[in-house]
Amino acid sequence: MNKILNEINSDRECAIFDCDVERDIAVDDKYKRKNNPNIPDLAEGTVIRHYTALSRKNYALSTTFYPLGSCTMKYNPVINEKIASCAKFAEVHPLQPESTVQGSLEIMFELEKALCEISGMNNFTLQPAAGAHGEHTGLLIIADYFKSRKEKRTKIIVPDSAHGTNPASANLSGFEVISLKSEHDGTLSPDKLKEILTSEVACIMMTNPNTLGVFEKHIPEIAEIMHANGSLLYYDGANLNAVMGIARPGDMGFDVMHINLHKTFSTPHGGGGPGSGPVGVKSFLKDFLPVPTVVNENGIFKLNYKNKKTSVGRMKAFYGNFPVLLKALVYIKSIGGNGLKEASVQANINANYVLNLLKDKVAIPAGNVCTHEFVLSSKGSLGDGVRTLDVAKRLLDYGYYAPTIYFPLIVEEAMMIEPTETESKQTLDEFIKVLSGIIDESKNNPELVKNAPSKTPVSRLNEVEAARNPKLRW
Ligand SMILES: *Cc1c(COP(=O)(O)O)cnc(C)c1O
Repeated sequence: MNKILNEINSDRECAIFDCDVERDIAVDDKYKRKNNPNIPDLAEGTVIRHYTALSRKNYALSTTFYPLGSCTMKYNPVINEKIASCAKFAEVHPLQPESTVQGSLEIMFELEKALCEISGMNNFTLQPAAGAHGEHTGLLIIADYFKSRKEKRTKIIVPDSAHGTNPASANLSGFEVISLKSEHDGTLSPDKLKEILTSEVACIMMTNPNTLGVFEKHIPEIAEIMHANGSLLYYDGANLNAVMGIARPGDMGFDVMHINLHKTFSTPHGGGGPGSGPVGVKSFLKDFLPVPTVVNENGIFKLNYKNKKTSVGRMKAFYGNFPVLLKALVYIKSIGGNGLKEASVQANINANYVLNLLKDKVAIPAGNVCTHEFVLSSKGSLGDGVRTLDVAKRLLDYGYYAPTIYFPLIVEEAMMIEPTETESKQTLDEFIKVLSGIIDESKNNPELVKNAPSKTPVSRLNEVEAARNPKLRW
């Protein structure tokens, strides 16, 4: 053994000698450093301990439950990350000849087919990089459709229960937004819709289930009203884990939709991306989809630029965020149609379970039945001067990430909770106990809750100041 080690060591010395810069390359003195570089002089062990300690201060799905509503922070199979980082996929270049990337093209082709089946739409583009980017793409398609028909439709109806990106995307895409107020039960009224509908309305953008976690019960009637007016229906399907395997937007009468692969289909939301927001359309809109799409010609997969003239153009360099597409297909194929349905059913059961065990403690403005998430209002349920923000901060002391707060805007002192399909009853019971306990604390010891968190590395920050003038050195 010693002999082998000695040989290796002597080899190593030779190697170091071989690439001796001083000896092989003559560097002019004027380029040489006069003083040692001003970098921290620390041992590797000290550095690694510092960064590991910092990483442990993070909240992450791999360390804690993450009830952030509207974001689907579910646990995703790590094996899918591993598959997506396989050299055969990760090291493929987007400009390689088609004949050398048949497998990657087939994955995109198969994913498009799977998304059509799941959603009831006829064609998809996989290019958009996120949900909001998908909305923008979908609205450009709608704009070009009306342009091709020489119809002047400049307005989009967006309910006040829609996701915040909807009015923003409508605006960005050049439309004027008309707001539609939701009813007390959180749903839309077809009669109120009729009152604001004009011949200038291009479409209605519906988030379903809406941001209150309520499934819109009048969709068939709304679809009839919109189509009779020559207008279209856009479905914000960011949260498909509420309906997949159970109901399909295409069957409900929607013409355009997006799906957030980075919520439902095995890519974590948050963490800075990348994401993917494929957009699906009914057949009559397919010529407007971004190019290229992938087609199968007698078993050979090809990039198709046929619709270059009618297309809204390219929405992203190359073909979308390929690793996210790959993970989505692996997820869909590995759990199958029944598995997708089971995921949705479980997401809905988990949310309803938490809602029903909290409903005697706080107000639930949209009623006692929800889909994959729900919104509570802590107005009137907390101790003196304690607000939703304080409850969210106090949750950090108990080791939980805080839920979404003050959204949607239509609920006062809102807190939006989404347990997701991947959490166990035990985890949910623990969370319910802690949240109920904080509501009691807010009455028995309001100052404690108002000054939370006390167990985190920093307590209350001036959030505006921290965002505008971050203090990065202590
Ligand atoms: C998350 C979400 C979006 C936006 O998706 P991004 O990928 O964050 O742009 C849009 N609509 C709904 C309903 C969402 O939940």
